[in-house]
Amino acid sequence: MKYKPEEYIDSGFYGGDMDSDIENIKSKVVKCRKPHRCVCGCETEIGKGDYALLESGFTDGKPVSVYTSTQCIDKWLDEISVKEA
Ligand SMILES: [Zn+2]
Repeated sequence: MKYKPEEYIDSGFYGGDMDSDIENIKSKVVKCRKPHRCVCGCETEIGKGDYALLESGFTDGKPVSVYTSTQCIDKWLDEISVKEA
């Protein structure tokens, strides 16, 4: 993890798309206890013990949770920090 947990949570990585699909969304940075596939479409496998951004909430009344690799968000944060510089 290159950045602070809050920066991943506040990254705006999804540009708001996710928020419209998931109700009562909660975001946090977690250390995965089992492998997960990154949700961003990059096909990255998030390994056991790796950090990921976990977003959980409800879609159509069903609980959902999605994991995003911190590596993907690192790249995104790198890009936006370059633009802001
Ligand atoms: Zn990804």
